[in-house]
Amino acid sequence: MKKNQIVELEITDITSDGNGVGRYESMAVFVPETAVGDLLRVKIVKVLKSYCFGIVDEIISPSPDRVHTDCPHFPKCGGCSFRHISYESEAKLKEKFVYDAFTRIGKIQTEFMPVLSCEASDRYRNKAQYPVGISDEGNICGFYAKRSHRIMSGYDCRLLPENFGRISEFITEYTNKNNIRGYDEKNGSGVLRHIFIRQGYHSKELMICFVVKKDIAQRLMPLCERLKEKFEETKSIVMNINPDNTNVILGKRTVNLYGNGCISDTMCGNVIDIAPEAFYQVNTNQAERLYAQATEFAEFKGDELLLDLYCGAGTIGLSMADRVKKLVGVEIIPQAVENAKKNAEINGVENAEFICADAGMAAKQLAKKGLKPDVVVLDPPRKGCDADTLEAVVSMSPQKIVMISCNPATAARDCGVLCEKGYKAQKVRAVDLFPRTTHVECVVLMSRNKA
Ligand code: SAH
Repeated sequence: MKKNQIVELEITDITSDGNGVGRYESMAVFVPETAVGDLLRVKIVKVLKSYCFGIVDEIISPSPDRVHTDCPHFPKCGGCSFRHISYESEAKLKEKFVYDAFTRIGKIQTEFMPVLSCEASDRYRNKAQYPVGISDEGNICGFYAKRSHRIMSGYDCRLLPENFGRISEFITEYTNKNNIRGYDEKNGSGVLRHIFIRQGYHSKELMICFVVKKDIAQRLMPLCERLKEKFEETKSIVMNINPDNTNVILGKRTVNLYGNGCISDTMCGNVIDIAPEAFYQVNTNQAERLYAQATEFAEFKGDELLLDLYCGAGTIGLSMADRVKKLVGVEIIPQAVENAKKNAEINGVENAEFICADAGMAAKQLAKKGLKPDVVVLDPPRKGCDADTLEAVVSMSPQKIVMISCNPATAARDCGVLCEKGYKAQKVRAVDLFPRTTHVECVVLMSRNKA
């Protein structure tokens, strides 16, 4: 196989990073934006030892999964991977991604429930972080191109509420006219780095956050006045200062420009206050269904001690609090813990306690103190739990562990570890919170083997 060679092949599978796979002689060929059943002429662009990458030269006969692509930014934009296939086929693929991860990585055979697909495949996100940069024509705001930090100009995204595009466009025009320059990642010039917007899915409350290199509060005040007038749902406007040369979006310091710095939304019937720094699931409606599935797995009787590790603003634990005797939540981001405590109070939850700490350290200490939770919920970030954390959880010997994860590969690995330590995976379910992207959540019920 050589670079620029044209080969004919059929796509037989899609990998969890969104590439179609076909075979040419003994070589696996990965081709982006394709669908299972496509018969293609493919131009080879990169050859490695046992596989290669190609791009579509011609679709000889399209897969039945294909649909008309309805976004002008696709596929150049890095946001979506699956706008060219039906949502139904995408959901089935995600069911398979989760199945493959658990059987191959975790070596787990159990009941795999059908994927819980999403009711809305567009406009489902409650949060956007528009990068702002600088070009010859002034500030440029939009979306990162696939696998790069090059900003493609654009405001409306099909995954976001429509008003987000109007807000980011308004801010870009205003900052351009008023010489508030977009940040240049290459040389650190300019000041406006990101426009971060969050809107409560149920409450519609809006938070607008300017991520800036240095304090420009005075220069932003007139813009705040305009935003409040123009976008009535605006509840909080904040400025987050991030002076560092980093990919991390938010810096350490946040300054309130208008409002109390938070917005509230409701989740699983609870009022939830969220600070800009706190994690909050981007797809509220589907997250509520995910949490409901986790609750169903736990089958609470009412006398349990529940430990919610990686609890964020407390959303999962609080949704379960009235079904258990006591809830203990652990989270590392102080603002999120503050939110969780306040959220318990607002909702009249009196049996909850929240601890600001590393999940592993807290689990170890709680175990030492003799805490015996009946159920542990684990909802770690993408990298999963570390071995020490799993060890500490196991040492408390909970009857059930409910693992929730946005990364099936690390969840499968961690559940595999729990299986070696006396637990059995009872049920696994893929839950799609991120239509059109390759991302998928999964929820797993693990129970302790009888001694
Ligand atoms: N359960 C919450 C948040 C899940 S996201 C919800 O559903 O909304 C994962 C959370 O883990 C984030 O809030 C993140 O801040 C937190 N986190 C990351 N590393 C952590 C660690 N080492 N210890 C405790 N929490 C951590």
